[in-house]
Amino acid sequence: MGAGLAGLVAARELRRAGRSVVVLEARDRVGGRLLNADIGDGNVVEVGGQWAGPTQKRVLALARELGIETFPTHTRGENLIEWRSRLVRYRGAIPRMNAAVLVDVAQAQARIDRMAKRVPLDAPWLAPKAELWDSQTFETWLRRNVATSGARELFRILVEAVWAADAADVSLLHLLFYTHSAGGFDDLIGTEGGAQQDRFVGGSQLLALKLGEELGGDVVLETPVTRIEHSASAVRVVADGREVSTGAAIVAVPPALCGRIAYAPPLPAIRDQLTQRMPQGTVIKCMAIYERPFWRDAGLSGQATSTEGPVKVMFDNSPPNGSPGVLLGFLEGRRARELGEWQPEARRNAVVDCFRRIFGPDAAKPLDYVERVWAQEEWTRGCYGCYMPPGGWVSYGRALRAPIGRIHWAGAETATVWNGYMDGAVQSGERVAAEVLAALNGA
Ligand SMILES: Cc1cc2nc3c(=O)[nH]c(=O)nc-3n(C[C@H](O)[C@H](O)[C@H](O)COP(=O)(O)OP(=O)(O)OC[C@H]3O[C@@H](n4cnc5c(N)ncnc54)[C@H](O)[C@@H]3O)c2cc1C
Repeated sequence: MGAGLAGLVAARELRRAGRSVVVLEARDRVGGRLLNADIGDGNVVEVGGQWAGPTQKRVLALARELGIETFPTHTRGENLIEWRSRLVRYRGAIPRMNAAVLVDVAQAQARIDRMAKRVPLDAPWLAPKAELWDSQTFETWLRRNVATSGARELFRILVEAVWAADAADVSLLHLLFYTHSAGGFDDLIGTEGGAQQDRFVGGSQLLALKLGEELGGDVVLETPVTRIEHSASAVRVVADGREVSTGAAIVAVPPALCGRIAYAPPLPAIRDQLTQRMPQGTVIKCMAIYERPFWRDAGLSGQATSTEGPVKVMFDNSPPNGSPGVLLGFLEGRRARELGEWQPEARRNAVVDCFRRIFGPDAAKPLDYVERVWAQEEWTRGCYGCYMPPGGWVSYGRALRAPIGRIHWAGAETATVWNGYMDGAVQSGERVAAEVLAALNGA
Protein backbone atom coordinates (compact mmCIF):
# COMPACT_ATOMS: atom_id res chain seq x y z
CA MET A 1 0.00 0.00 0.00
CA GLY A 2 1.31 3.39 -0.99
CA ALA A 3 3.22 4.46 -4.10
CA GLY A 4 5.50 6.88 -2.28
CA LEU A 5 9.22 6.29 -2.46
CA ALA A 6 9.10 3.57 0.24
CA GLY A 7 6.34 1.50 -1.38
CA LEU A 8 7.84 1.82 -4.86
CA VAL A 9 11.35 0.82 -3.74
CA ALA A 10 9.94 -2.17 -1.81
CA ALA A 11 7.93 -3.31 -4.85
CA ARG A 12 10.93 -3.00 -7.13
CA GLU A 13 13.14 -5.01 -4.77
CA LEU A 14 10.53 -7.76 -4.50
CA ARG A 15 10.05 -7.90 -8.26
CA ARG A 16 13.81 -8.13 -8.74
CA ALA A 17 13.75 -11.11 -6.36
CA GLY A 18 11.23 -12.80 -8.65
CA ARG A 19 8.07 -12.08 -6.67
CA SER A 20 4.90 -10.68 -8.18
CA VAL A 21 3.64 -7.44 -6.66
CA VAL A 22 0.78 -5.01 -6.88
CA VAL A 23 1.04 -1.49 -5.43
CA LEU A 24 -2.30 0.03 -4.44
CA GLU A 25 -2.15 3.84 -4.35
CA ALA A 26 -4.94 6.11 -3.13
CA ARG A 27 -3.99 9.14 -5.20
CA ASP A 28 -4.14 9.55 -8.97
CA ARG A 29 -0.34 9.84 -9.10
CA VAL A 30 2.78 8.27 -7.63
CA GLY A 31 5.21 10.06 -5.29
CA GLY A 32 3.13 10.73 -2.17
CA ARG A 33 4.98 13.52 -0.39
CA LEU A 34 7.05 14.16 -3.53
CA LEU A 35 5.27 16.40 -6.02
CA ASN A 36 6.58 18.57 -8.85
CA ALA A 37 4.75 21.74 -9.87
CA ASP A 38 5.13 23.05 -13.40
CA ILE A 39 6.18 26.74 -13.45
CA GLY A 40 6.40 27.07 -17.23
CA ASP A 41 9.15 26.87 -19.87
CA GLY A 42 9.95 23.30 -18.84
CA ASN A 43 10.84 24.30 -15.28
CA VAL A 44 9.50 22.65 -12.14
CA VAL A 45 9.61 23.36 -8.43
CA GLU A 46 8.82 20.81 -5.75
CA VAL A 47 5.94 21.51 -3.38
CA GLY A 48 6.92 18.47 -1.30
CA GLY A 49 10.32 16.99 -0.38
CA GLN A 50 13.20 18.27 -2.49
CA TRP A 51 16.71 18.34 -0.97
CA ALA A 52 19.34 15.64 -0.55
CA GLY A 53 22.47 15.90 1.57
CA PRO A 54 25.89 14.29 0.98
CA THR A 55 25.39 11.54 3.59
CA GLN A 56 22.01 10.52 2.16
CA LYS A 57 23.68 7.74 0.25
CA ARG A 58 20.61 5.64 -0.53
CA VAL A 59 18.54 8.29 -2.24
CA LEU A 60 21.59 9.59 -4.12
CA ALA A 61 22.42 6.06 -5.31
CA LEU A 62 18.80 5.59 -6.42
CA ALA A 63 18.96 8.87 -8.36
CA ARG A 64 22.19 7.82 -10.08
CA GLU A 65 20.67 4.48 -11.01
CA LEU A 66 17.61 6.22 -12.47
CA GLY A 67 19.77 8.73 -14.39
CA ILE A 68 18.64 11.75 -12.33
CA GLU A 69 21.28 14.40 -11.73
CA THR A 70 21.68 16.73 -8.77
CA PHE A 71 22.66 20.40 -8.59
CA PRO A 72 23.71 22.50 -5.61
CA THR A 73 21.24 24.68 -3.72
CA HIS A 74 22.12 28.31 -4.47
CA THR A 75 24.14 29.65 -1.51
CA ARG A 76 26.42 32.30 -3.03
CA GLY A 77 26.16 35.67 -1.29
CA GLU A 78 25.18 36.88 2.14
CA ASN A 79 22.38 35.40 4.23
CA LEU A 80 19.86 37.50 6.13
CA ILE A 81 18.43 37.22 9.58
CA GLU A 82 15.51 39.33 10.73
CA TRP A 83 16.10 39.25 14.46
CA ARG A 84 13.37 40.91 16.53
CA SER A 85 12.61 43.35 13.66
CA ARG A 86 16.28 44.15 12.84
CA LEU A 87 17.60 42.89 9.49
CA VAL A 88 21.25 41.72 9.59
CA ARG A 89 23.42 40.34 6.76
CA TYR A 90 25.97 37.63 7.44
CA ARG A 91 28.17 35.09 5.69
CA GLY A 92 28.45 31.39 6.46
CA ALA A 93 26.35 29.36 8.84
CA ILE A 94 26.42 31.60 11.90
CA PRO A 95 24.55 34.93 12.05
CA ARG A 96 26.21 37.96 13.61
CA MET A 97 24.49 38.07 16.97
CA ASN A 98 25.17 38.76 20.59
CA ALA A 99 28.24 36.70 21.63
CA ALA A 100 26.49 35.29 24.73
CA VAL A 101 23.72 33.93 22.51
CA LEU A 102 26.19 32.37 20.09
CA VAL A 103 28.14 30.68 22.89
CA ASP A 104 24.87 29.43 24.37
CA VAL A 105 23.78 28.01 21.00
CA ALA A 106 27.13 26.28 20.43
CA GLN A 107 27.14 24.72 23.91
CA ALA A 108 23.55 23.52 23.63
CA GLN A 109 24.18 22.07 20.18
CA ALA A 110 27.25 20.20 21.43
CA ARG A 111 25.17 18.77 24.30
CA ILE A 112 22.38 17.73 21.93
CA ASP A 113 24.89 15.96 19.68
CA ARG A 114 26.48 14.18 22.65
CA MET A 115 23.12 13.02 24.03
CA ALA A 116 21.90 12.02 20.55
CA LYS A 117 24.82 9.62 20.07
CA ARG A 118 23.60 7.68 23.10
CA VAL A 119 20.24 6.88 21.48
CA PRO A 120 20.26 3.47 19.73
CA LEU A 121 18.81 4.02 16.25
CA ASP A 122 16.94 0.73 16.13
CA ALA A 123 15.59 1.02 19.68
CA PRO A 124 15.51 4.60 21.06
CA TRP A 125 13.61 3.34 24.11
CA LEU A 126 16.79 1.55 25.21
CA ALA A 127 18.82 4.79 25.52
CA PRO A 128 20.37 5.03 28.98
CA LYS A 129 18.17 8.00 29.90
CA ALA A 130 15.23 7.09 27.68
CA GLU A 131 12.59 7.50 30.41
CA LEU A 132 13.90 10.92 31.44
CA TRP A 133 14.32 12.18 27.88
CA ASP A 134 10.94 10.86 26.73
CA SER A 135 9.09 12.40 29.66
CA GLN A 136 9.76 15.96 28.48
CA THR A 137 9.39 18.06 25.38
CA PHE A 138 12.33 19.80 23.74
CA GLU A 139 10.79 23.09 24.97
CA THR A 140 11.07 21.88 28.59
CA TRP A 141 14.71 21.00 28.00
CA LEU A 142 15.40 24.38 26.37
CA ARG A 143 13.93 26.27 29.32
CA ARG A 144 15.99 24.29 31.81
CA ASN A 145 19.27 24.12 29.92
CA VAL A 146 19.63 27.13 27.63
CA ALA A 147 20.27 30.36 29.48
CA THR A 148 19.67 33.14 26.93
CA SER A 149 16.25 33.87 25.45
CA GLY A 150 17.97 34.52 22.09
CA ALA A 151 19.42 31.01 21.93
CA ARG A 152 16.07 29.50 22.91
CA GLU A 153 14.37 31.50 20.17
CA LEU A 154 16.88 30.33 17.56
CA PHE A 155 16.40 26.68 18.57
CA ARG A 156 12.61 27.07 18.36
CA ILE A 157 12.98 28.27 14.75
CA LEU A 158 15.34 25.38 13.95
CA VAL A 159 12.91 22.85 15.43
CA GLU A 160 10.09 24.28 13.32
CA ALA A 161 12.32 24.12 10.24
CA VAL A 162 13.30 20.47 10.78
CA TRP A 163 10.13 18.93 12.27
CA ALA A 164 7.39 21.34 11.10
CA ALA A 165 6.28 21.23 14.74
CA ASP A 166 6.89 23.39 17.78
CA ALA A 167 9.56 22.65 20.40
CA ALA A 168 6.64 22.15 22.81
CA ASP A 169 5.21 19.37 20.61
CA VAL A 170 8.24 17.10 20.28
CA SER A 171 9.66 14.64 22.82
CA LEU A 172 13.30 15.35 23.71
CA LEU A 173 14.05 11.66 23.07
CA HIS A 174 12.56 11.96 19.59
CA LEU A 175 14.66 15.03 18.82
CA LEU A 176 17.76 13.16 19.95
CA PHE A 177 16.88 10.00 17.99
CA TYR A 178 16.21 12.02 14.84
CA THR A 179 19.44 13.99 15.25
CA HIS A 180 21.45 10.76 15.61
CA SER A 181 19.62 9.23 12.68
CA ALA A 182 20.81 12.16 10.49
CA GLY A 183 24.38 12.06 11.83
CA GLY A 184 24.28 15.25 13.93
CA PHE A 185 22.43 18.54 14.39
CA ASP A 186 24.50 20.31 11.71
CA ASP A 187 23.56 17.59 9.22
CA LEU A 188 19.88 18.41 9.82
CA ILE A 189 20.09 22.19 9.59
CA GLY A 190 22.99 22.69 7.16
CA THR A 191 22.86 23.61 3.51
CA GLU A 192 26.46 23.00 2.30
CA GLY A 193 27.42 19.64 3.85
CA GLY A 194 23.92 19.19 5.32
CA ALA A 195 20.45 17.95 4.39
CA GLN A 196 19.74 20.99 2.19
CA GLN A 197 22.88 20.76 0.03
CA ASP A 198 21.57 19.47 -3.30
CA ARG A 199 18.46 19.33 -5.43
CA PHE A 200 17.36 16.97 -8.20
CA VAL A 201 17.36 18.17 -11.80
CA GLY A 202 13.79 17.78 -13.05
CA GLY A 203 12.42 17.69 -9.48
CA SER A 204 12.45 14.98 -6.82
CA GLN A 205 9.14 13.48 -7.96
CA LEU A 206 11.09 12.14 -10.97
CA LEU A 207 12.46 9.46 -8.60
CA ALA A 208 8.95 8.16 -8.02
CA LEU A 209 7.78 8.72 -11.60
CA LYS A 210 10.69 6.66 -12.97
CA LEU A 211 10.15 3.87 -10.43
CA GLY A 212 6.43 3.94 -11.29
CA GLU A 213 7.24 3.66 -15.00
CA GLU A 214 9.47 0.67 -14.32
CA LEU A 215 6.71 -1.05 -12.32
CA GLY A 216 4.13 -0.26 -15.04
CA GLY A 217 0.79 -2.00 -14.55
CA ASP A 218 1.85 -3.29 -11.14
CA VAL A 219 0.98 0.16 -9.75
CA VAL A 220 -2.75 0.75 -9.49
CA LEU A 221 -3.75 4.38 -8.90
CA GLU A 222 -6.92 5.82 -7.34
CA THR A 223 -7.31 2.69 -5.21
CA PRO A 224 -7.37 3.62 -1.51
CA VAL A 225 -7.04 0.63 0.80
CA THR A 226 -9.81 0.55 3.39
CA ARG A 227 -9.47 -2.85 5.06
CA ILE A 228 -6.88 -5.58 5.60
CA GLU A 229 -8.05 -9.07 6.54
CA HIS A 230 -5.23 -11.27 7.75
CA SER A 231 -4.67 -14.76 9.07
CA ALA A 232 -1.74 -17.12 9.60
CA SER A 233 -1.98 -18.32 5.99
CA ALA A 234 -2.91 -15.25 3.88
CA VAL A 235 -3.81 -11.57 3.64
CA ARG A 236 -6.76 -10.04 1.79
CA VAL A 237 -6.45 -6.33 1.02
CA VAL A 238 -9.70 -4.54 0.29
CA ALA A 239 -9.50 -1.27 -1.60
CA ASP A 240 -12.02 0.95 -3.34
CA GLY A 241 -12.80 -1.06 -6.46
CA ARG A 242 -10.25 -3.84 -5.95
CA GLU A 243 -9.41 -6.78 -3.70
CA VAL A 244 -6.05 -8.51 -3.58
CA SER A 245 -5.20 -11.83 -1.91
CA THR A 246 -1.51 -12.11 -1.14
CA GLY A 247 1.15 -13.87 0.87
CA ALA A 248 2.34 -10.63 2.48
CA ALA A 249 1.15 -7.03 2.70
CA ILE A 250 3.42 -4.00 3.05
CA VAL A 251 1.80 -0.88 4.45
CA ALA A 252 4.03 1.98 3.26
CA VAL A 253 1.98 4.91 4.51
CA PRO A 254 2.70 7.22 7.48
CA PRO A 255 1.74 5.68 10.88
CA ALA A 256 -1.11 8.14 11.49
CA LEU A 257 -2.74 7.01 8.22
CA CYS A 258 -2.08 3.32 8.96
CA GLY A 259 -4.48 3.86 11.88
CA ARG A 260 -7.28 4.85 9.51
CA ILE A 261 -7.32 1.46 7.78
CA ALA A 262 -9.60 -1.22 9.30
CA TYR A 263 -7.91 -4.50 10.23
CA ALA A 264 -9.65 -7.82 10.73
CA PRO A 265 -8.86 -9.19 13.21
CA PRO A 266 -8.00 -5.87 14.89
CA LEU A 267 -4.31 -5.15 15.45
CA PRO A 268 -2.75 -5.59 18.90
CA ALA A 269 -3.47 -2.63 21.19
CA ILE A 270 0.13 -1.43 21.27
CA ARG A 271 0.25 -1.05 17.48
CA ASP A 272 -3.09 0.74 17.32
CA GLN A 273 -2.12 3.07 20.15
CA LEU A 274 1.19 3.82 18.44
CA THR A 275 -0.77 5.08 15.43
CA GLN A 276 -2.83 7.24 17.81
CA ARG A 277 0.39 8.87 19.04
CA MET A 278 2.45 9.70 15.95
CA PRO A 279 1.02 12.96 14.62
CA GLN A 280 2.18 14.54 11.38
CA GLY A 281 3.84 17.95 11.53
CA THR A 282 2.19 20.95 9.89
CA VAL A 283 3.81 22.71 6.95
CA ILE A 284 2.77 24.93 4.09
CA LYS A 285 5.46 25.17 1.44
CA CYS A 286 5.21 28.50 -0.41
CA MET A 287 7.05 29.78 -3.46
CA ALA A 288 6.94 33.18 -5.14
CA ILE A 289 8.15 33.28 -8.74
CA TYR A 290 9.91 36.32 -10.22
CA GLU A 291 11.32 37.10 -13.65
CA ARG A 292 14.81 36.77 -12.22
CA PRO A 293 16.50 36.14 -8.84
CA PHE A 294 16.91 39.90 -8.20
CA TRP A 295 18.29 39.34 -4.67
CA ARG A 296 21.46 37.88 -6.18
CA ASP A 297 22.28 41.34 -7.67
CA ALA A 298 22.30 42.73 -4.15
CA GLY A 299 24.84 40.08 -3.08
CA LEU A 300 22.22 38.04 -1.26
CA SER A 301 22.03 34.25 -1.25
CA GLY A 302 18.26 34.17 -0.83
CA GLN A 303 18.65 32.26 2.44
CA ALA A 304 17.00 34.04 5.33
CA THR A 305 15.64 33.44 8.81
CA SER A 306 13.09 35.58 10.64
CA THR A 307 11.89 35.63 14.22
CA GLU A 308 8.85 37.65 13.12
CA GLY A 309 7.53 35.41 10.36
CA PRO A 310 5.04 34.26 9.40
CA VAL A 311 7.71 32.75 7.11
CA LYS A 312 10.62 31.86 9.39
CA VAL A 313 12.98 30.15 6.92
CA MET A 314 13.61 31.14 3.29
CA PHE A 315 15.73 29.86 0.39
CA ASP A 316 16.56 30.68 -3.22
CA ASN A 317 14.74 27.87 -5.00
CA SER A 318 15.38 28.95 -8.60
CA PRO A 319 15.94 26.25 -11.25
CA PRO A 320 19.56 25.27 -12.06
CA ASN A 321 19.95 27.99 -14.73
CA GLY A 322 18.67 30.70 -12.34
CA SER A 323 15.62 31.57 -14.41
CA PRO A 324 12.99 32.33 -13.29
CA GLY A 325 13.85 33.48 -9.76
CA VAL A 326 12.07 31.50 -7.07
CA LEU A 327 11.90 32.41 -3.37
CA LEU A 328 10.88 29.54 -1.13
CA GLY A 329 9.40 30.00 2.33
CA PHE A 330 8.00 27.55 4.86
CA LEU A 331 5.08 28.15 7.21
CA GLU A 332 5.51 25.63 9.98
CA GLY A 333 4.05 24.39 13.25
CA ARG A 334 1.63 26.76 14.96
CA ARG A 335 1.93 29.41 12.20
CA ALA A 336 1.05 26.83 9.58
CA ARG A 337 -1.99 25.70 11.58
CA GLU A 338 -3.15 29.32 11.88
CA LEU A 339 -2.51 30.37 8.28
CA GLY A 340 -3.78 27.03 6.98
CA GLU A 341 -7.26 28.20 7.94
CA TRP A 342 -6.97 31.47 6.05
CA GLN A 343 -8.27 32.03 2.54
CA PRO A 344 -5.47 31.28 0.00
CA GLU A 345 -5.32 34.92 -1.12
CA ALA A 346 -4.83 36.26 2.41
CA ARG A 347 -2.13 33.64 3.04
CA ARG A 348 -0.36 34.51 -0.20
CA ASN A 349 -0.42 38.22 0.76
CA ALA A 350 1.08 37.47 4.18
CA VAL A 351 3.86 35.35 2.66
CA VAL A 352 4.69 37.81 -0.12
CA ASP A 353 4.67 40.69 2.34
CA CYS A 354 7.18 38.81 4.47
CA PHE A 355 9.42 38.30 1.39
CA ARG A 356 9.10 42.07 0.68
CA ARG A 357 10.16 42.95 4.22
CA ILE A 358 13.23 40.72 3.97
CA PHE A 359 14.29 41.05 0.31
CA GLY A 360 12.99 44.53 -0.52
CA PRO A 361 10.29 46.05 -2.74
CA ASP A 362 11.16 43.90 -5.80
CA ALA A 363 9.72 40.93 -3.90
CA ALA A 364 6.31 42.56 -3.57
CA LYS A 365 4.95 41.59 -7.00
CA PRO A 366 5.74 38.01 -7.99
CA LEU A 367 4.68 36.78 -11.43
CA ASP A 368 3.23 33.69 -9.86
CA TYR A 369 2.81 31.97 -6.52
CA VAL A 370 2.69 28.25 -5.71
CA GLU A 371 1.89 26.62 -2.37
CA ARG A 372 0.84 23.31 -0.83
CA VAL A 373 -1.03 22.94 2.44
CA TRP A 374 -0.01 19.40 3.36
CA ALA A 375 -2.31 19.01 6.36
CA GLN A 376 -5.26 19.38 3.97
CA GLU A 377 -4.10 16.49 1.76
CA GLU A 378 -6.42 13.55 2.41
CA TRP A 379 -3.70 10.95 1.85
CA THR A 380 -0.96 12.67 3.84
CA ARG A 381 -2.65 14.89 6.48
CA GLY A 382 0.48 16.79 7.48
CA CYS A 383 4.23 16.88 6.90
CA TYR A 384 7.14 16.68 6.62
CA GLY A 385 6.46 13.52 8.56
CA CYS A 386 5.35 12.11 11.89
CA TYR A 387 7.09 12.93 15.14
CA MET A 388 6.85 11.42 18.62
CA PRO A 389 5.35 13.45 21.44
CA PRO A 390 6.50 12.61 25.00
CA GLY A 391 5.98 8.98 25.97
CA GLY A 392 5.74 7.77 22.37
CA TRP A 393 9.07 6.01 22.00
CA VAL A 394 9.30 4.49 25.45
CA SER A 395 5.78 3.08 25.60
CA TYR A 396 5.00 2.31 21.96
CA GLY A 397 8.22 2.50 19.93
CA ARG A 398 8.69 -1.25 19.69
CA ALA A 399 5.47 -1.51 17.64
CA LEU A 400 6.78 0.80 14.89
CA ARG A 401 8.41 -1.79 12.63
CA ALA A 402 7.49 -5.16 14.15
CA PRO A 403 5.47 -7.10 11.54
CA ILE A 404 2.09 -8.43 12.61
CA GLY A 405 1.71 -11.85 11.04
CA ARG A 406 1.84 -11.20 7.30
CA ILE A 407 1.51 -7.41 7.58
CA HIS A 408 4.77 -5.44 7.32
CA TRP A 409 5.40 -1.72 7.86
CA ALA A 410 7.49 0.70 5.79
CA GLY A 411 7.78 4.43 5.12
CA ALA A 412 10.24 7.19 6.04
CA GLU A 413 8.97 7.15 9.64
CA THR A 414 10.19 3.58 10.11
CA ALA A 415 13.78 4.31 9.04
CA THR A 416 16.78 4.14 11.34
CA VAL A 417 19.00 6.33 9.12
CA TRP A 418 17.72 9.71 7.93
CA ASN A 419 14.34 8.99 9.52
CA GLY A 420 11.66 11.22 7.98
CA TYR A 421 13.62 11.95 4.78
CA MET A 422 13.55 10.54 1.25
CA ASP A 423 16.71 8.64 2.12
CA GLY A 424 14.91 7.05 5.07
CA ALA A 425 11.98 6.13 2.81
CA VAL A 426 14.39 4.30 0.48
CA GLN A 427 16.06 2.54 3.44
CA SER A 428 12.65 1.43 4.73
CA GLY A 429 11.65 0.09 1.30
CA GLU A 430 14.83 -1.97 1.07
CA ARG A 431 14.52 -3.20 4.67
CA VAL A 432 10.89 -4.25 4.34
CA ALA A 433 11.49 -6.08 1.05
CA ALA A 434 14.27 -8.12 2.69
CA GLU A 435 11.98 -8.78 5.67
CA VAL A 436 9.14 -9.99 3.45
CA LEU A 437 11.44 -12.18 1.34
CA ALA A 438 12.86 -13.80 4.47
CA ALA A 439 9.35 -14.42 5.81
CA LEU A 440 8.05 -15.85 2.50
CA ASN A 441 11.13 -17.98 1.93
CA GLY A 442 10.92 -19.33 5.46
CA ALA A 443 7.21 -20.06 5.09
C1 LIG B 1 6.85 20.14 2.20
C2 LIG B 1 7.77 18.96 2.39
C3 LIG B 1 9.14 19.15 2.37
C4 LIG B 1 10.00 18.08 2.55
N1 LIG B 1 11.33 18.28 2.38
C5 LIG B 1 12.16 17.21 2.29
C6 LIG B 1 13.49 17.36 1.81
O1 LIG B 1 13.90 18.47 1.43
N2 LIG B 1 14.30 16.26 1.76
C7 LIG B 1 13.83 15.01 2.13
O2 LIG B 1 14.59 14.04 2.05
N3 LIG B 1 12.56 14.84 2.54
C8 LIG B 1 11.71 15.89 2.60
N4 LIG B 1 10.39 15.72 2.94
C9 LIG B 1 9.96 14.38 3.40
C10 LIG B 1 9.86 13.38 2.24
O3 LIG B 1 9.07 13.93 1.24
C11 LIG B 1 9.27 12.09 2.79
O4 LIG B 1 10.09 11.60 3.83
C12 LIG B 1 9.17 10.96 1.77
O5 LIG B 1 8.71 11.41 0.52
C13 LIG B 1 8.23 9.90 2.35
O6 LIG B 1 8.05 8.82 1.46
P1 LIG B 1 7.14 7.59 1.92
O7 LIG B 1 7.05 6.66 0.78
O8 LIG B 1 7.61 7.09 3.22
O9 LIG B 1 5.70 8.22 2.25
P2 LIG B 1 4.65 8.98 1.30
O10 LIG B 1 5.37 9.77 0.27
O11 LIG B 1 3.73 9.70 2.20
O12 LIG B 1 3.90 7.81 0.55
C14 LIG B 1 2.75 7.19 1.09
C15 LIG B 1 1.79 6.90 -0.04
O13 LIG B 1 0.69 6.16 0.47
C16 LIG B 1 -0.50 6.64 -0.13
N5 LIG B 1 -1.61 6.28 0.76
C17 LIG B 1 -1.99 6.81 1.94
N6 LIG B 1 -3.02 6.15 2.47
C18 LIG B 1 -3.32 5.16 1.58
C19 LIG B 1 -4.32 4.13 1.55
N7 LIG B 1 -5.21 3.96 2.54
N8 LIG B 1 -4.33 3.29 0.49
C20 LIG B 1 -3.44 3.41 -0.51
N9 LIG B 1 -2.50 4.37 -0.54
C21 LIG B 1 -2.44 5.23 0.51
C22 LIG B 1 -0.27 8.13 -0.27
O14 LIG B 1 -1.10 8.69 -1.24
C23 LIG B 1 1.20 8.16 -0.66
O15 LIG B 1 1.38 8.12 -2.06
C24 LIG B 1 9.48 16.77 2.79
C25 LIG B 1 8.11 16.58 2.79
C26 LIG B 1 7.26 17.65 2.58
C27 LIG B 1 5.80 17.42 2.50
